[in-house]
Amino acid sequence: MERPGEWVELEVARARLAAVIEPLAPTDVPIAESLGRVLAAEVVAPRDVPPFAASAMDGFALRAEDTIGGSARLSIVGASGAGRPATVAVGPGEAVAIATGGALPVGADSVCPIEAATLAGDTVEVHPVIERGAYVRGVGDDTAAGLVVFTAGSVVGPAHVGVMAGLGVESVSVHPAPRVGVLATGDELVVAPEVPGPGQIHDANRPALLAAVRTAHGIPVDLGIVGDDEAALEAALADAATRCDVVLTSGGVSVGTADHAKAVLTRLAPESVEWLEVRIQPGKPFGFAVLEGSGVPVLCLPGNPVSALVSFELLVRPALARRGGRPGRAPRTEVAVAAEAFGPWDDGKLHVVRVVACGDTDEQLRVCSAGGQGSHQLRVTAGANGFALIPHGRAVGVGDPVDVIVTEPDGIGRCDAVEGVR
Ligand code: AMP
Ligand code: MG
Repeated sequence: MERPGEWVELEVARARLAAVIEPLAPTDVPIAESLGRVLAAEVVAPRDVPPFAASAMDGFALRAEDTIGGSARLSIVGASGAGRPATVAVGPGEAVAIATGGALPVGADSVCPIEAATLAGDTVEVHPVIERGAYVRGVGDDTAAGLVVFTAGSVVGPAHVGVMAGLGVESVSVHPAPRVGVLATGDELVVAPEVPGPGQIHDANRPALLAAVRTAHGIPVDLGIVGDDEAALEAALADAATRCDVVLTSGGVSVGTADHAKAVLTRLAPESVEWLEVRIQPGKPFGFAVLEGSGVPVLCLPGNPVSALVSFELLVRPALARRGGRPGRAPRTEVAVAAEAFGPWDDGKLHVVRVVACGDTDEQLRVCSAGGQGSHQLRVTAGANGFALIPHGRAVGVGDPVDVIVTEPDGIGRCDAVEGVR
């Protein structure tokens, strides 16, 4: 039998974990593979964008001074298409037909949009007075050569990829996505199509956690199931350390005789191992260690499926973010209104209630329980789109404010479907 770990508040557990998680060393990747990654170095523009003065409209490139009196008739002496610059210069009384993105010909300083001109044979009548520089995109108008376009720490989004492509940047230094191994422990676990025998159940945690890793910008690595056996667990962790950047285990962290994670990790990583009783419900038992030699963090989650996923959201997700070079902030909470009463719970824990959060865009969010709150009742968690956080001792009445982590924003706005939410 193992002894219980040290009791800590959620924030303390998160901070202690963050303190041992090192961001992965930077690596160069092609820009197409950088989406969602964190830049490890600044990106400096190697050239101007646009690289030449170009038209912002379909129209006529001309000399503004020719239009000073309005209604100027100009001779069309050539054309400048996108990628097909004009071969002639624009002299006094002349114009070049130009497309959006076409290079401004030598001699021209502005563009008259086609809508403000009338074609007549090989001449064009320009109606308005055109200001110098009108409808011209100047060199470096978007980005000037030498500008720091992105700083280290920026998360790469689609526009970043486009900017780098537009600058002719081929690869970029990023913190790689962590490869996150998931290992389920338990003698009772089987996988379909195997039919559970007496006392056996299908493994739900490993597939759920592998899926959660995907949503957390990690690369899931399936490490399978190990039985409640110290030697097997030790061998599995040694193997995982060779091909993962983080390892998650489920089960075996309580105080039962079959709970071996503690003994094994304490042996493998005596310096860094921490066993905690986090003051949350569910998700209380939690352990972590950094494997000696490889430096791979191992995070041990409880076996109850709801507990495992709650621990993932509150503790593991920020840690994975940090491993991938992000700040790894605590999940953002919003203030909702309770549509039913919650608590009080006088057990010293923060209660993480799986809720349905409802509300149209301009309405205050309202929350009600998603159903049974047992830590084995995973189906209810699937029906929830948020976690309400109820501190111990607090009685939340109908209409009272309540902090909620919205886990699935697209799931908001389904009030009609939820009994008890008005
Ligand atoms: P443990 O933390 O190993 O004591 O497990 C606590 C509870 O969670 C027990 O009822 C286990 O059978 C259950 N459990 C453990 N691992 C899994 C899993 N991978 N999938 C579904 N249930 C599990
Ligand atoms: Mg177990």
